[in-house]
Amino acid sequence: METVFSKIIEGAIPSKKVFENERILAFHDIEPAAPVHVLIIPKKYIASMNEVTPEDLPLIGEIHAVAQQLATELGIADSGYRLINNCGPDSGMAVPHLHYHLLGGAKLGALTG
Ligand code: IMP
Repeated sequence: METVFSKIIEGAIPSKKVFENERILAFHDIEPAAPVHVLIIPKKYIASMNEVTPEDLPLIGEIHAVAQQLATELGIADSGYRLINNCGPDSGMAVPHLHYHLLGGAKLGALTG
C-alpha cells in the first residue's frame, strides 16, 4: 500500500527525521498541532491499529520506547506530552499507515470525544 508515509520511508518524499532504525522512523509533522509534533511510524506496513497482530506487539512496544526517548531529546519529558494514535474514519485518520503523534511543548487542549 503506497501512502505518503511509505514514500517518506523510501526517501521519495523528504522529511525532517528525528529517529530511525531498521524498524521505526520518526519525523516532524508537516502541519504541527503543537510546538513539538512528531510522527512515529513502523517501516513495516500496518494499515491501522485494527490490523496490529500479536507478532507486532514487540514493535508497538519499541515505538513507545522511541516516544519516551524522543520526549527526553525534544525537551518535553518533564513538562508532559501526548502519544496519540488515530484509527478509522471517526478518528480523522488521514494516512492509512499506522502512526503515533507525539505532541508537547505547550499546555495541550482538552481531549474531545
Ligand atoms: P492522521 O490524521 O492521524 O492520519 O495524521 C496524519 C498526519 O500526517 C497529519 O498530522 C499530517 O499533517 C501529517 N502529514 C501528512 N503528510 C505529511 C508529510 O509529507 N510529512 C510530514 N507529515 C505529514
